[in-house]
Amino acid sequence: MADTAEEKVLAALRGVVDERAGRDIVSLGRVKGLVVRGAHVGFAIELPPGEGAEREPLRKAAEAAVAKVPGVLSVTAVLTSHSAPAGGAAPHAHRAAPRRAAPQQAGERPSVPGVGAILAVASGKGGVGKSTVAVNLALALARLGLKVGLLDADIYGPSVPRLLGLTGKPETDGEKLRPHEAFGIKAMSIGLLVGEDQPMIWRGPMVMTALTQLLNDVAWAPLDVLLVDMPPGTGDAQLTLAQRVPVTGAVIVSTPQEIALTDARKGLAMFRQTHVPVFGIVENMAYFVAPTGERIFIFGEGGARRTAGTLDCDFLGEIPLTVRVRETSDAGTPIVAIAPHAEESAPFLAIAEKVAAKLAEATGEGARKPPKISYVD
Ligand code: ADP
Repeated sequence: MADTAEEKVLAALRGVVDERAGRDIVSLGRVKGLVVRGAHVGFAIELPPGEGAEREPLRKAAEAAVAKVPGVLSVTAVLTSHSAPAGGAAPHAHRAAPRRAAPQQAGERPSVPGVGAILAVASGKGGVGKSTVAVNLALALARLGLKVGLLDADIYGPSVPRLLGLTGKPETDGEKLRPHEAFGIKAMSIGLLVGEDQPMIWRGPMVMTALTQLLNDVAWAPLDVLLVDMPPGTGDAQLTLAQRVPVTGAVIVSTPQEIALTDARKGLAMFRQTHVPVFGIVENMAYFVAPTGERIFIFGEGGARRTAGTLDCDFLGEIPLTVRVRETSDAGTPIVAIAPHAEESAPFLAIAEKVAAKLAEATGEGARKPPKISYVD
């Protein structure tokens, strides 16, 4: 669809009247985050405080109106609310009314009961190995004796199900969704809730609805730390997550090339702007080890370490590009899970120790008990 597609969609939505207010939802300013990707349309309807799931007919009417626009093949509308009622059915990633209060205001970050800390794993751009690092870091933290969960919030390409070999829709225990258990950690992915064939067109409010549910409606507790595999980039969605999720700290994954580093810098700035402490930068695919043992710096040497220094941010470590990491990732059997003593696992374990220490410091645990660094099998 051409540029005017958004206008056509808005014109259709002007025909959707919110009976309670006696006006259409566009002039009421209720339509948020409208995005048109080809023939796929997504948007959120922001409800006034106190309204929630009972406004489902309004959502359906809005979807139906947009579905009639010539050229539109799919429509995804979600309801967002600043204080929807709690309780109810199993959560859905989208197309479902939020049942739980979304965070009240930007900057206000209600904690997740029973979860000691939340660690965001972020990257300025896709394809740098953020999910590979998130998964292996989660497993390495578990080996340090922490109870660990991994929430895959990468709406653009949820890869945690593939990396951990997870399949099947999660089940509920009547009240909450049961996370998958894999290699000793709990895991839940937006990819398990949304079919792979669903068009992924998300914007801030929709992301927040899904993420709030993934945080609050999954039986995470008790956990020492929940890692959140963030969507790559520094756009609306990422900013909303950084603002609204009660993040204890963030780890930024970058490759050494300048382009990735430029993006990592933006990521760092975003977290600082939202007052989330950045624990440090991890350099992934730092070098390739040739069969001769020689280190080949395909993307240039030490870029992330230098960037970390320039930006006054800790450098957490470098992870080489290895065939074994790629193979184990693609097979759904992460290296740290199946070969924790292999040399390819060592960088993840070393980074985990630094992160565990920072988590302990940030949550005040350090003062009460030293971080355990005994390995468990
Ligand atoms: P992102 O989450 O940043 O998009 P992924 O974690 O999905 O990136 O990784 C992208 C690809 O790179 C995957 O095929 C993964 O197996 C591979 N990969 C990531 N890190 C490494 C590494 N250190 N060595 C080898 N392959 C890697």
